[in-house]
Amino acid sequence: MLELTDLKVHDESRQGEAYNPSTGKPLVLGKRFYIESYGCQMNFADSEIVASILNDSGFDATSYPEEADLILINTCSIREKAEQTVRNRLQTFREVKQDRPGMLVGVLGCMAERLKSKFLEEEKLVDIVVGPDAYRSLPGLIQEAESGQKAVNVLLSREETYADISPVRLDSNGVTAFVSIMRGCNNMCSFCVVPFTRGRERSRNADSIVEECTSLFNQGYREVTLLGQNVDSYYYYPDIPGNGPARPVTFAMLLERVADISPALRVRFSTSHPKDITDEVLYAICRHENICKYIHLPVQSGSTRILQLMNRTYTREWYQARIERIREIIPGCGISSDIIAGFCTETQEDHQDTLDLMKQSRYDMSYMFYYSERPGTLAARRYTDDVPLDIKKYRLDEIVKLQNRMSLDSNRQDIGTVCKVLIEGDSKKSARDWMGRNSQNKVVVFPKKDVSFNKGDYAIVKIKECTGATLIGEALAKEAIAEGSGDLKESIFS
Ligand code: SAM
Ligand code: SF4
Repeated sequence: MLELTDLKVHDESRQGEAYNPSTGKPLVLGKRFYIESYGCQMNFADSEIVASILNDSGFDATSYPEEADLILINTCSIREKAEQTVRNRLQTFREVKQDRPGMLVGVLGCMAERLKSKFLEEEKLVDIVVGPDAYRSLPGLIQEAESGQKAVNVLLSREETYADISPVRLDSNGVTAFVSIMRGCNNMCSFCVVPFTRGRERSRNADSIVEECTSLFNQGYREVTLLGQNVDSYYYYPDIPGNGPARPVTFAMLLERVADISPALRVRFSTSHPKDITDEVLYAICRHENICKYIHLPVQSGSTRILQLMNRTYTREWYQARIERIREIIPGCGISSDIIAGFCTETQEDHQDTLDLMKQSRYDMSYMFYYSERPGTLAARRYTDDVPLDIKKYRLDEIVKLQNRMSLDSNRQDIGTVCKVLIEGDSKKSARDWMGRNSQNKVVVFPKKDVSFNKGDYAIVKIKECTGATLIGEALAKEAIAEGSGDLKESIFS
Protein backbone atom coordinates (compact mmCIF):
# COMPACT_ATOMS: atom_id res chain seq x y z
CA MET A 1 0.00 0.00 0.00
CA LEU A 2 2.68 2.47 1.03
CA GLU A 3 4.83 1.37 -1.85
CA LEU A 4 2.10 2.22 -4.28
CA THR A 5 1.17 5.56 -2.83
CA ASP A 6 4.78 6.59 -2.69
CA LEU A 7 4.79 6.66 -6.47
CA LYS A 8 1.47 8.38 -6.83
CA VAL A 9 2.77 11.79 -7.88
CA HIS A 10 3.39 10.21 -11.18
CA ASP A 11 0.95 8.20 -13.17
CA GLU A 12 1.99 4.77 -11.90
CA SER A 13 0.75 3.06 -15.02
CA ARG A 14 3.19 5.15 -17.08
CA GLN A 15 6.41 4.76 -15.04
CA GLY A 16 9.11 3.29 -17.23
CA GLU A 17 6.87 3.52 -20.26
CA ALA A 18 8.74 2.88 -23.49
CA TYR A 19 8.32 4.51 -26.86
CA ASN A 20 6.60 2.19 -29.24
CA PRO A 21 5.14 3.79 -32.36
CA SER A 22 7.12 1.86 -34.95
CA THR A 23 7.30 -1.64 -33.49
CA GLY A 24 7.24 -4.17 -36.27
CA LYS A 25 7.80 -1.55 -38.95
CA PRO A 26 10.82 -1.76 -41.23
CA LEU A 27 13.78 0.40 -40.27
CA VAL A 28 13.44 3.65 -42.23
CA LEU A 29 16.00 6.01 -40.78
CA GLY A 30 19.00 3.71 -40.20
CA LYS A 31 19.37 3.37 -36.43
CA ARG A 32 17.07 2.61 -33.56
CA PHE A 33 16.55 4.24 -30.18
CA TYR A 34 14.70 2.97 -27.14
CA ILE A 35 13.51 5.42 -24.47
CA GLU A 36 12.09 4.85 -21.00
CA SER A 37 10.57 7.69 -19.00
CA TYR A 38 10.14 8.17 -15.25
CA GLY A 39 8.66 10.90 -13.09
CA CYS A 40 6.18 13.66 -13.68
CA GLN A 41 4.17 14.56 -16.77
CA MET A 42 6.78 17.16 -17.72
CA ASN A 43 9.36 14.40 -18.07
CA PHE A 44 7.06 12.41 -20.36
CA ALA A 45 6.49 15.56 -22.44
CA ASP A 46 10.28 16.05 -22.61
CA SER A 47 10.73 12.51 -23.95
CA GLU A 48 8.44 13.51 -26.83
CA ILE A 49 10.76 16.42 -27.63
CA VAL A 50 13.77 14.08 -27.50
CA ALA A 51 11.98 11.65 -29.85
CA SER A 52 11.48 14.48 -32.34
CA ILE A 53 15.16 15.49 -32.17
CA LEU A 54 16.26 11.86 -32.64
CA ASN A 55 13.89 11.29 -35.58
CA ASP A 56 15.41 14.33 -37.27
CA SER A 57 18.89 12.90 -36.84
CA GLY A 58 18.17 9.48 -38.28
CA PHE A 59 16.87 7.35 -35.42
CA ASP A 60 13.71 5.22 -35.57
CA ALA A 61 12.05 4.07 -32.38
CA THR A 62 11.92 0.57 -31.03
CA SER A 63 10.21 -0.87 -28.00
CA TYR A 64 12.89 -3.55 -27.60
CA PRO A 65 16.07 -2.48 -25.79
CA GLU A 66 17.88 -5.57 -27.20
CA GLU A 67 17.61 -4.25 -30.77
CA ALA A 68 18.42 -0.60 -29.98
CA ASP A 69 21.57 1.27 -31.02
CA LEU A 70 20.82 3.85 -28.36
CA ILE A 71 19.04 3.33 -25.03
CA LEU A 72 17.87 6.42 -23.15
CA ILE A 73 16.39 6.77 -19.67
CA ASN A 74 14.63 10.02 -18.88
CA THR A 75 15.12 10.29 -15.13
CA CYS A 76 13.43 11.79 -12.10
CA SER A 77 15.06 12.73 -8.81
CA ILE A 78 12.11 14.08 -6.85
CA ARG A 79 12.39 11.29 -4.27
CA GLU A 80 15.14 8.85 -3.40
CA LYS A 81 13.07 5.90 -4.56
CA ALA A 82 12.74 7.25 -8.09
CA GLU A 83 16.53 7.48 -8.30
CA GLN A 84 16.97 3.90 -7.12
CA THR A 85 14.60 2.61 -9.80
CA VAL A 86 16.66 4.30 -12.51
CA ARG A 87 19.91 2.93 -11.11
CA ASN A 88 18.47 -0.63 -11.26
CA ARG A 89 17.42 -0.13 -14.88
CA LEU A 90 20.91 1.08 -15.79
CA GLN A 91 22.37 -2.13 -14.35
CA THR A 92 20.02 -4.13 -16.59
CA PHE A 93 21.02 -2.11 -19.65
CA ARG A 94 24.68 -2.66 -18.86
CA GLU A 95 23.99 -6.39 -19.28
CA VAL A 96 22.18 -5.77 -22.59
CA LYS A 97 25.21 -3.78 -23.72
CA GLN A 98 27.53 -6.72 -23.11
CA ASP A 99 25.79 -8.55 -25.99
CA ARG A 100 25.77 -5.42 -28.19
CA PRO A 101 29.11 -3.69 -27.69
CA GLY A 102 28.45 -0.74 -30.06
CA MET A 103 25.23 0.19 -28.32
CA LEU A 104 25.14 3.49 -26.40
CA VAL A 105 23.31 4.16 -23.12
CA GLY A 106 22.30 7.67 -22.12
CA VAL A 107 20.78 9.31 -19.08
CA LEU A 108 18.49 12.29 -19.61
CA GLY A 109 16.66 14.64 -17.29
CA CYS A 110 16.71 15.54 -13.63
CA MET A 111 19.32 13.08 -12.37
CA ALA A 112 21.84 14.14 -15.01
CA GLU A 113 23.57 17.03 -13.25
CA ARG A 114 23.83 15.46 -9.81
CA LEU A 115 24.98 12.02 -10.88
CA LYS A 116 26.97 12.71 -14.03
CA SER A 117 30.40 11.84 -12.67
CA LYS A 118 29.08 8.83 -10.76
CA PHE A 119 27.32 7.35 -13.80
CA LEU A 120 30.06 8.16 -16.29
CA GLU A 121 33.32 7.69 -14.49
CA GLU A 122 32.82 5.83 -11.21
CA GLU A 123 30.13 3.30 -12.04
CA LYS A 124 30.68 3.39 -15.83
CA LEU A 125 27.00 2.78 -16.38
CA VAL A 126 26.43 5.18 -19.25
CA ASP A 127 28.05 6.83 -22.30
CA ILE A 128 25.94 9.99 -22.54
CA VAL A 129 24.51 12.33 -19.89
CA VAL A 130 22.16 15.14 -20.95
CA GLY A 131 20.36 17.62 -18.71
CA PRO A 132 16.79 18.83 -19.38
CA ASP A 133 17.86 22.02 -21.17
CA ALA A 134 20.45 20.39 -23.44
CA TYR A 135 18.42 18.01 -25.62
CA ARG A 136 19.28 19.92 -28.79
CA SER A 137 22.90 18.86 -28.31
CA LEU A 138 21.96 15.16 -28.24
CA PRO A 139 22.90 14.41 -31.91
CA GLY A 140 26.40 15.90 -31.37
CA LEU A 141 26.81 14.02 -28.09
CA ILE A 142 25.85 10.74 -29.77
CA GLN A 143 28.60 11.32 -32.34
CA GLU A 144 31.11 12.05 -29.57
CA ALA A 145 30.10 8.90 -27.72
CA GLU A 146 30.32 6.83 -30.93
CA SER A 147 33.95 7.89 -31.21
CA GLY A 148 34.56 6.53 -27.71
CA GLN A 149 34.42 9.76 -25.70
CA LYS A 150 32.17 10.29 -22.71
CA ALA A 151 29.59 12.85 -23.80
CA VAL A 152 28.06 15.25 -21.28
CA ASN A 153 25.94 18.40 -21.43
CA VAL A 154 24.09 19.33 -18.27
CA LEU A 155 24.07 23.09 -18.73
CA LEU A 156 20.86 24.75 -17.63
CA SER A 157 19.52 27.59 -19.71
CA ARG A 158 17.57 30.77 -18.98
CA GLU A 159 15.94 30.73 -22.41
CA GLU A 160 15.42 27.19 -23.70
CA THR A 161 11.73 26.26 -24.08
CA TYR A 162 11.96 23.99 -27.18
CA ALA A 163 9.14 26.17 -28.54
CA ASP A 164 9.98 25.39 -32.18
CA ILE A 165 10.20 21.59 -31.80
CA SER A 166 7.10 19.57 -32.68
CA PRO A 167 7.00 16.73 -30.15
CA VAL A 168 6.57 13.19 -31.49
CA ARG A 169 3.69 11.78 -29.43
CA LEU A 170 4.76 8.67 -27.50
CA ASP A 171 2.46 5.79 -26.60
CA SER A 172 -0.37 8.10 -27.42
CA ASN A 173 -4.05 7.20 -27.22
CA GLY A 174 -4.57 9.77 -30.00
CA VAL A 175 -7.10 11.65 -27.85
CA THR A 176 -5.23 13.35 -24.98
CA ALA A 177 -1.85 15.11 -25.11
CA PHE A 178 0.45 17.10 -22.82
CA VAL A 179 1.81 20.46 -23.93
CA SER A 180 4.63 22.17 -21.99
CA ILE A 181 3.99 25.89 -21.60
CA MET A 182 6.95 26.71 -19.37
CA ARG A 183 10.07 25.17 -17.88
CA GLY A 184 11.90 25.36 -14.55
CA CYS A 185 10.68 26.84 -11.28
CA ASN A 186 11.58 29.91 -9.21
CA ASN A 187 9.73 28.94 -6.07
CA MET A 188 12.34 27.26 -3.92
CA CYS A 189 10.06 25.12 -1.76
CA SER A 190 12.58 23.88 0.78
CA PHE A 191 11.90 20.13 0.19
CA CYS A 192 12.09 20.29 -3.59
CA VAL A 193 14.92 19.54 -5.98
CA VAL A 194 13.18 20.85 -9.13
CA PRO A 195 14.64 24.40 -9.09
CA PHE A 196 18.12 22.81 -9.02
CA THR A 197 17.53 20.13 -11.65
CA ARG A 198 15.36 22.10 -14.09
CA GLY A 199 16.63 25.63 -13.53
CA ARG A 200 14.99 29.05 -13.65
CA GLU A 201 11.42 29.50 -14.74
CA ARG A 202 10.78 30.57 -18.34
CA SER A 203 7.55 30.80 -20.30
CA ARG A 204 7.18 29.51 -23.81
CA ASN A 205 6.05 31.68 -26.73
CA ALA A 206 2.23 31.81 -26.54
CA ASP A 207 1.78 31.61 -30.32
CA SER A 208 3.81 28.40 -30.51
CA ILE A 209 1.64 26.86 -27.76
CA VAL A 210 -1.58 27.77 -29.57
CA GLU A 211 -0.11 26.43 -32.84
CA GLU A 212 0.85 23.12 -31.20
CA CYS A 213 -2.62 22.73 -29.66
CA THR A 214 -4.32 23.62 -32.97
CA SER A 215 -2.18 21.05 -34.77
CA LEU A 216 -3.07 18.42 -32.17
CA PHE A 217 -6.77 19.20 -32.61
CA ASN A 218 -6.44 18.93 -36.40
CA GLN A 219 -4.80 15.51 -35.95
CA GLY A 220 -7.84 14.32 -33.98
CA TYR A 221 -6.75 14.99 -30.39
CA ARG A 222 -9.60 16.19 -28.19
CA GLU A 223 -7.84 17.16 -24.96
CA VAL A 224 -4.68 19.08 -24.14
CA THR A 225 -3.13 19.49 -20.69
CA LEU A 226 -1.01 22.62 -20.37
CA LEU A 227 1.99 21.74 -18.23
CA GLY A 228 4.27 23.73 -15.96
CA GLN A 229 5.58 23.49 -12.38
CA ASN A 230 3.62 26.63 -11.56
CA VAL A 231 1.31 27.46 -14.47
CA ASP A 232 -0.17 30.52 -12.76
CA SER A 233 3.11 32.36 -13.10
CA TYR A 234 3.10 31.88 -16.89
CA TYR A 235 3.94 35.30 -18.36
CA TYR A 236 5.00 35.85 -21.93
CA TYR A 237 5.99 39.11 -23.60
CA PRO A 238 5.37 38.84 -27.35
CA ASP A 239 8.27 40.23 -29.29
CA ILE A 240 6.81 42.53 -31.97
CA PRO A 241 9.73 44.56 -33.37
CA GLY A 242 8.88 48.20 -34.11
CA ASN A 243 5.41 47.95 -32.54
CA GLY A 244 6.25 49.33 -29.10
CA PRO A 245 5.73 47.44 -25.86
CA ALA A 246 3.44 44.47 -26.43
CA ARG A 247 0.76 43.36 -23.97
CA PRO A 248 2.01 40.43 -21.90
CA VAL A 249 0.11 37.14 -22.10
CA THR A 250 -0.94 35.86 -18.68
CA PHE A 251 -1.97 32.28 -17.91
CA ALA A 252 -5.68 33.22 -17.92
CA MET A 253 -5.27 34.76 -21.39
CA LEU A 254 -3.37 31.74 -22.67
CA LEU A 255 -6.04 29.37 -21.34
CA GLU A 256 -8.75 31.30 -23.19
CA ARG A 257 -6.73 31.37 -26.42
CA VAL A 258 -6.32 27.58 -26.29
CA ALA A 259 -9.99 27.09 -25.37
CA ASP A 260 -10.99 29.22 -28.37
CA ILE A 261 -9.33 26.77 -30.80
CA SER A 262 -12.53 24.72 -30.78
CA PRO A 263 -15.35 23.95 -28.35
CA ALA A 264 -14.61 20.30 -29.09
CA LEU A 265 -11.09 20.58 -27.62
CA ARG A 266 -10.94 20.11 -23.86
CA VAL A 267 -8.30 22.07 -21.97
CA ARG A 268 -6.72 21.04 -18.67
CA PHE A 269 -3.72 22.42 -16.82
CA SER A 270 -1.30 21.41 -14.08
CA THR A 271 0.11 22.47 -11.61
CA SER A 272 -1.39 25.50 -9.86
CA HIS A 273 0.31 27.07 -6.86
CA PRO A 274 -2.01 28.29 -4.05
CA LYS A 275 -0.13 31.58 -3.77
CA ASP A 276 -0.48 32.37 -7.48
CA ILE A 277 -3.81 31.06 -8.76
CA THR A 278 -5.87 34.11 -9.73
CA ASP A 279 -9.58 34.85 -9.89
CA GLU A 280 -9.02 35.62 -13.61
CA VAL A 281 -8.13 31.96 -14.14
CA LEU A 282 -11.23 30.87 -12.21
CA TYR A 283 -13.46 33.18 -14.27
CA ALA A 284 -11.82 31.93 -17.49
CA ILE A 285 -12.77 28.38 -16.48
CA CYS A 286 -16.37 29.50 -15.92
CA ARG A 287 -16.58 31.29 -19.25
CA HIS A 288 -15.51 28.25 -21.29
CA GLU A 289 -17.40 24.98 -21.16
CA ASN A 290 -14.35 23.23 -22.63
CA ILE A 291 -11.90 24.34 -19.88
CA CYS A 292 -12.24 21.46 -17.46
CA LYS A 293 -13.70 22.11 -14.02
CA TYR A 294 -10.77 20.60 -12.21
CA ILE A 295 -7.89 22.19 -10.31
CA HIS A 296 -4.87 20.47 -8.84
CA LEU A 297 -3.91 22.73 -5.92
CA PRO A 298 -1.17 21.06 -3.84
CA VAL A 299 -1.28 22.02 -0.16
CA GLN A 300 1.70 19.86 1.05
CA SER A 301 0.79 20.37 4.75
CA GLY A 302 -2.13 21.66 6.83
CA SER A 303 0.11 23.24 9.45
CA THR A 304 1.11 26.89 8.99
CA ARG A 305 4.32 26.27 10.91
CA ILE A 306 5.33 23.43 8.56
CA LEU A 307 4.23 25.43 5.50
CA GLN A 308 6.63 28.17 6.61
CA LEU A 309 9.48 25.69 6.97
CA MET A 310 8.58 24.35 3.53
CA ASN A 311 8.81 27.92 2.17
CA ARG A 312 5.41 27.56 0.52
CA THR A 313 4.71 31.29 1.23
CA TYR A 314 1.06 30.81 2.24
CA THR A 315 -0.69 29.94 5.49
CA ARG A 316 -3.32 27.35 6.20
CA GLU A 317 -5.93 30.17 6.26
CA TRP A 318 -4.79 31.56 2.88
CA TYR A 319 -5.08 28.09 1.37
CA GLN A 320 -8.57 27.57 2.83
CA ALA A 321 -9.66 30.93 1.40
CA ARG A 322 -8.44 29.88 -2.08
CA ILE A 323 -10.42 26.63 -1.87
CA GLU A 324 -13.54 28.57 -0.83
CA ARG A 325 -13.04 30.99 -3.72
CA ILE A 326 -12.77 28.10 -6.20
CA ARG A 327 -15.99 26.55 -4.89
CA GLU A 328 -17.75 29.94 -4.95
CA ILE A 329 -16.76 30.85 -8.53
CA ILE A 330 -16.85 27.32 -10.01
CA PRO A 331 -19.52 25.26 -8.24
CA GLY A 332 -18.87 21.54 -8.69
CA CYS A 333 -15.17 22.02 -9.48
CA GLY A 334 -13.02 18.91 -8.90
CA ILE A 335 -10.08 19.65 -6.57
CA SER A 336 -7.03 17.51 -5.87
CA SER A 337 -3.85 18.00 -3.85
CA ASP A 338 -0.30 16.85 -3.11
CA ILE A 339 0.49 16.07 0.52
CA ILE A 340 3.80 15.30 2.23
CA ALA A 341 3.81 13.39 5.54
CA GLY A 342 6.65 13.68 8.04
CA PHE A 343 8.48 16.81 6.92
CA CYS A 344 11.28 17.96 9.24
CA THR A 345 10.07 18.67 12.83
CA GLU A 346 6.47 17.65 12.03
CA THR A 347 4.61 16.86 15.27
CA GLN A 348 1.49 14.79 15.79
CA GLU A 349 -0.41 18.08 16.11
CA ASP A 350 0.92 19.31 12.73
CA HIS A 351 -0.11 15.99 11.22
CA GLN A 352 -3.59 16.36 12.72
CA ASP A 353 -3.79 19.83 11.12
CA THR A 354 -3.11 18.18 7.75
CA LEU A 355 -5.88 15.62 8.26
CA ASP A 356 -8.30 18.40 9.33
CA LEU A 357 -7.44 20.57 6.34
CA MET A 358 -7.94 17.61 4.00
CA LYS A 359 -11.44 17.11 5.43
CA GLN A 360 -12.28 20.79 5.08
CA SER A 361 -10.96 20.90 1.52
CA ARG A 362 -12.91 17.76 0.55
CA TYR A 363 -10.37 16.68 -2.05
CA ASP A 364 -11.62 14.35 -4.74
CA MET A 365 -8.14 12.87 -5.04
CA SER A 366 -4.60 13.42 -3.72
CA TYR A 367 -1.04 12.41 -4.49
CA MET A 368 0.50 11.48 -1.15
CA PHE A 369 4.12 10.94 -0.11
CA TYR A 370 6.31 10.74 2.89
CA TYR A 371 9.15 13.23 3.02
CA SER A 372 12.35 12.13 1.33
CA GLU A 373 15.36 14.39 1.88
CA ARG A 374 16.99 15.46 -1.38
CA PRO A 375 20.65 16.52 -1.43
CA GLY A 376 21.22 20.21 -2.12
CA THR A 377 17.71 21.39 -1.24
CA LEU A 378 17.13 24.15 1.33
CA ALA A 379 15.63 21.62 3.76
CA ALA A 380 18.65 19.31 3.46
CA ARG A 381 20.94 22.23 4.24
CA ARG A 382 18.90 23.87 7.01
CA TYR A 383 16.85 21.25 8.82
CA THR A 384 17.26 17.80 10.29
CA ASP A 385 15.22 15.02 8.72
CA ASP A 386 14.11 14.05 12.21
CA VAL A 387 10.78 12.22 11.81
CA PRO A 388 11.53 8.48 11.99
CA LEU A 389 10.63 6.47 8.88
CA ASP A 390 8.05 4.33 10.68
CA ILE A 391 6.24 7.48 11.88
CA LYS A 392 6.37 8.99 8.39
CA LYS A 393 4.84 5.80 7.00
CA TYR A 394 2.22 5.61 9.73
CA ARG A 395 1.14 9.22 9.11
CA LEU A 396 1.12 8.67 5.36
CA ASP A 397 -1.06 5.62 5.87
CA GLU A 398 -3.57 7.73 7.85
CA ILE A 399 -3.55 10.36 5.11
CA VAL A 400 -4.09 7.73 2.41
CA LYS A 401 -6.93 6.08 4.30
CA LEU A 402 -8.67 9.42 4.84
CA GLN A 403 -8.27 10.33 1.16
CA ASN A 404 -9.62 6.95 0.08
CA ARG A 405 -12.74 7.51 2.20
CA MET A 406 -13.17 11.04 0.84
CA SER A 407 -12.70 9.88 -2.78
CA LEU A 408 -15.37 7.22 -2.28
CA ASP A 409 -17.74 9.78 -0.70
CA SER A 410 -17.13 12.20 -3.55
CA ASN A 411 -17.85 9.50 -6.13
CA ARG A 412 -20.99 8.34 -4.30
CA GLN A 413 -22.38 11.85 -4.57
CA ASP A 414 -22.15 11.54 -8.36
CA ILE A 415 -24.47 8.51 -8.47
CA GLY A 416 -27.63 9.50 -10.32
CA THR A 417 -26.01 12.50 -12.02
CA VAL A 418 -25.30 12.88 -15.72
CA CYS A 419 -21.89 13.96 -17.02
CA LYS A 420 -20.06 14.49 -20.30
CA VAL A 421 -17.24 12.01 -20.86
CA LEU A 422 -14.42 12.22 -23.39
CA ILE A 423 -13.72 8.62 -24.47
CA GLU A 424 -10.00 7.77 -24.25
CA GLY A 425 -10.20 4.09 -25.18
CA ASP A 426 -11.12 0.65 -23.89
CA SER A 427 -11.47 0.18 -20.17
CA LYS A 428 -8.39 -1.55 -18.72
CA LYS A 429 -10.54 -4.31 -17.26
CA SER A 430 -12.69 -5.16 -20.28
CA ALA A 431 -12.65 -4.30 -23.97
CA ARG A 432 -16.45 -4.42 -23.78
CA ASP A 433 -16.41 -1.13 -21.81
CA TRP A 434 -15.27 2.36 -22.73
CA MET A 435 -13.08 4.40 -20.41
CA GLY A 436 -12.99 8.19 -20.35
CA ARG A 437 -12.97 11.16 -17.99
CA ASN A 438 -15.50 13.78 -17.02
CA SER A 439 -14.69 17.47 -16.71
CA GLN A 440 -13.72 16.95 -13.02
CA ASN A 441 -11.05 14.47 -14.17
CA LYS A 442 -12.86 11.46 -12.69
CA VAL A 443 -12.45 8.19 -14.55
CA VAL A 444 -15.78 6.99 -15.99
CA VAL A 445 -16.39 3.49 -17.36
CA PHE A 446 -19.50 2.44 -19.29
CA PRO A 447 -20.55 -0.51 -21.48
CA LYS A 448 -20.10 -0.17 -25.24
CA LYS A 449 -23.32 -2.12 -25.82
CA ASP A 450 -24.60 -1.64 -29.36
CA VAL A 451 -23.93 2.07 -29.56
CA SER A 452 -21.38 3.21 -32.10
CA PHE A 453 -18.98 5.40 -30.18
CA ASN A 454 -15.37 5.91 -31.13
CA LYS A 455 -12.32 6.97 -29.20
CA GLY A 456 -12.36 10.78 -29.02
CA ASP A 457 -16.18 11.02 -28.97
CA TYR A 458 -18.04 12.78 -26.19
CA ALA A 459 -20.64 10.64 -24.43
CA ILE A 460 -23.38 11.79 -22.08
CA VAL A 461 -23.26 9.23 -19.28
CA LYS A 462 -25.58 8.60 -16.35
CA ILE A 463 -23.64 7.43 -13.29
CA LYS A 464 -25.13 4.28 -11.72
CA GLU A 465 -22.48 3.07 -9.28
CA CYS A 466 -18.89 3.69 -8.24
CA THR A 467 -15.72 2.59 -6.54
CA GLY A 468 -13.27 4.98 -4.85
CA ALA A 469 -11.39 5.39 -8.13
CA THR A 470 -14.02 4.97 -10.85
CA LEU A 471 -17.53 6.07 -11.76
CA ILE A 472 -19.53 3.38 -13.53
CA GLY A 473 -22.39 4.44 -15.78
CA GLU A 474 -24.50 4.00 -18.84
CA ALA A 475 -24.34 6.12 -22.00
CA LEU A 476 -27.48 8.16 -22.65
CA ALA A 477 -26.38 10.10 -25.70
CA LYS A 478 -23.63 10.99 -28.06
CA GLU A 479 -22.76 14.63 -28.09
CA ALA A 480 -22.02 16.46 -31.30
CA ILE A 481 -20.45 19.86 -30.98
CA ALA A 482 -21.27 22.45 -33.61
CA GLU A 483 -17.93 23.74 -34.88
CA GLY A 484 -17.31 27.39 -34.09
CA SER A 485 -20.64 28.04 -32.37
CA GLY A 486 -19.82 26.58 -29.00
CA ASP A 487 -23.33 25.07 -29.00
CA LEU A 488 -23.63 21.59 -27.62
CA LYS A 489 -26.06 19.44 -29.56
CA GLU A 490 -27.13 16.17 -28.10
CA SER A 491 -28.51 13.26 -29.95
CA ILE A 492 -30.42 11.18 -27.45
CA PHE A 493 -30.50 7.58 -28.54
CA SER A 494 -32.19 5.77 -25.74
N1 SAM B 1 5.26 22.18 -8.86
C1 SAM B 1 4.27 21.42 -8.25
C2 SAM B 1 3.81 22.06 -6.95
O1 SAM B 1 4.44 22.94 -6.42
O2 SAM B 1 2.80 21.65 -6.47
C3 SAM B 1 4.69 20.00 -7.99
C4 SAM B 1 6.07 19.59 -8.22
S1 SAM B 1 6.69 18.07 -7.64
C5 SAM B 1 7.21 17.39 -9.15
C6 SAM B 1 5.33 17.06 -7.26
C7 SAM B 1 5.15 16.77 -5.81
O3 SAM B 1 6.18 15.94 -5.33
C8 SAM B 1 5.15 17.96 -4.87
O4 SAM B 1 3.96 18.68 -4.90
C9 SAM B 1 5.40 17.28 -3.54
O5 SAM B 1 4.19 16.88 -2.92
C10 SAM B 1 6.20 16.03 -3.92
N2 SAM B 1 7.59 16.18 -3.49
C11 SAM B 1 8.51 17.04 -3.97
N3 SAM B 1 9.67 16.90 -3.29
C12 SAM B 1 9.48 15.93 -2.36
C13 SAM B 1 10.30 15.34 -1.36
N4 SAM B 1 11.55 15.75 -1.16
N5 SAM B 1 9.77 14.36 -0.59
C14 SAM B 1 8.49 13.95 -0.78
N6 SAM B 1 7.68 14.48 -1.71
C15 SAM B 1 8.15 15.46 -2.49
FE1 SF4 C 1 9.12 22.25 -6.42
FE2 SF4 C 1 7.77 24.16 -5.14
FE3 SF4 C 1 8.61 24.57 -7.66
FE4 SF4 C 1 6.62 22.84 -7.16
S1 SF4 C 1 6.58 25.05 -6.81
S2 SF4 C 1 8.40 22.51 -8.50
S3 SF4 C 1 7.22 21.96 -5.22
S4 SF4 C 1 9.90 24.30 -5.88
